[in-house]
Amino acid sequence: MSTANTGTTTYDGSCHCGRIAYTVEGQLDKVYECNCSHCSRKGYLLWFLPRTALHLKTAADAMSTYRFNKHVIDHRFCPNCGCAPFGLGTDKKGAATVAVNVRCLEGLDLAALERVPVDGRSF
Ligand SMILES: [Zn+2]
Repeated sequence: MSTANTGTTTYDGSCHCGRIAYTVEGQLDKVYECNCSHCSRKGYLLWFLPRTALHLKTAADAMSTYRFNKHVIDHRFCPNCGCAPFGLGTDKKGAATVAVNVRCLEGLDLAALERVPVDGRSF
């Protein structure tokens, strides 16, 4: 983790075995905790950013992808250790976004983050 003059911080993220590794840069103030059937099973704590904030350090084809429902989000996961470090999608304006699972970032105090509940189960 390193903080730049701009107020953004660069975090290192990875799956458990390291087949997927990346950095993500931004200001992390809150995370979204969704109760839908998928997020609750994976335990996601999500941080939404522009896709350009994500820098993959490992091969893109090392990841597997899970899609469900409307198939609008590519939920990336490691086929070896099973961790799901982020998902790729687009926002309402069509801009490419990444939803980073902050549980896969290093050096974070998860208890100190503001958690915003999302009632995805009712959508
Ligand atoms: Zn892995």
